Amino acid sequence: MQHDAIIIGGSFAGLSAAIYIARGRRSVCVIDGGRPRNRFAAASHGFFGQDGQAPLEMIAAARAQLQLYPSVRMVDGEAAAAHALDGGGFDVTLADGTRLTARKLVLAFGISDVLPEVPGLAERWGKSVLHCPYCHGYEFAGRRLGVLQTMPMSAHQAQLIAEWGPTTLFLNGGDRPDAETLAVLTARGIAVEPAPVVILDGKGDSLSCLRLADGRTIPTEALYVAVPTRLNSPIAEQLGCALDDGPLGPVIRTDASRLTSVPGVYAAGDIARVPHSATFAAADGVCAGTSLHQSLVFGAPA
Ligand SMILES: Cc1cc2nc3c(=O)[nH]c(=O)nc-3n(C[C@H](O)[C@H](O)[C@H](O)COP(=O)(O)OP(=O)(O)OC[C@H]3O[C@@H](n4cnc5c(N)ncnc54)[C@H](O)[C@@H]3O)c2cc1C
Repeated sequence: MQHDAIIIGGSFAGLSAAIYIARGRRSVCVIDGGRPRNRFAAASHGFFGQDGQAPLEMIAAARAQLQLYPSVRMVDGEAAAAHALDGGGFDVTLADGTRLTARKLVLAFGISDVLPEVPGLAERWGKSVLHCPYCHGYEFAGRRLGVLQTMPMSAHQAQLIAEWGPTTLFLNGGDRPDAETLAVLTARGIAVEPAPVVILDGKGDSLSCLRLADGRTIPTEALYVAVPTRLNSPIAEQLGCALDDGPLGPVIRTDASRLTSVPGVYAAGDIARVPHSATFAAADGVCAGTSLHQSLVFGAPA
């Protein structure tokens, strides 16, 4: 059976696209691997009406609501490849070899964070090692905060984080900021620690201090880290979608309707935008879903 739409990735963006297509009375198949980017965090913050909810519970509720629509099919699994068909439409091959076809696609497969290899960091990701102060900063307000330098913009990040509490910029043996930046950091009351970080320490997944190579420990209860990102799937490249360089990694190029450079292929969520949040991803999904639906009704753009 050919679906009207296949959505690759069934999280904030993909499920939001799907419900609008289903409400438009078109058939939609959602393929999802069940690994949303924020699965490491116990709570998601800032989403309208659901502040503090567990991310996986939010997604489970959205899936349950979506499945009430009879034109929806959910497939738990990984899409391994997708190609345009000669006569129009697309075929998607799952990791188990199953092949599905659709007139249009929505890519919503998300991104992954490439964490620095500092002992004690990965197991605290989303708990006391954080990517975004708007998502998790309020819970650590007024406590001792750190920023681990991973890229030139880390000094800028430290200036923002200081809004939430007393902040140390850990250079981790990397380049010192230039004199002008150091002056701004000092004026903001931000301490700068040049020594390499040996380990993050604390009970369970909480953080109490960073241990430095010179033997000192610096009390720290939350550490912010800006990390490179990668697309979760090569499918956008397989389809020939144009990518742009974002500040942290590749971003799939879309227009205002969330159509990619390939006719009939839409992209939504973290893969197709900066900055990232569950709210932005859901909004993009709505945009992609309604645009795709209207392209089925009116034809061009494909
Ligand atoms: C630690 C952490 C905490 C965060 N906390 C917050 C917060 O509090 N508030 C907030 O608004 N934002 C938060 N974010 C950001 C938020 O997680 C993302 O913006 C949001 O998840 C993006 O949604 P998405 O649908 O684009 O992608 P994702 O949620 O990452 O979902 C992508 C989905 O696609 C699936 N997938 C991937 N490849 C394939 C494939 N080949 N085939 C099938 N399925 C596939 C994955 O399994 C996954 O289910 C946080 C991020 C991190 C890293």
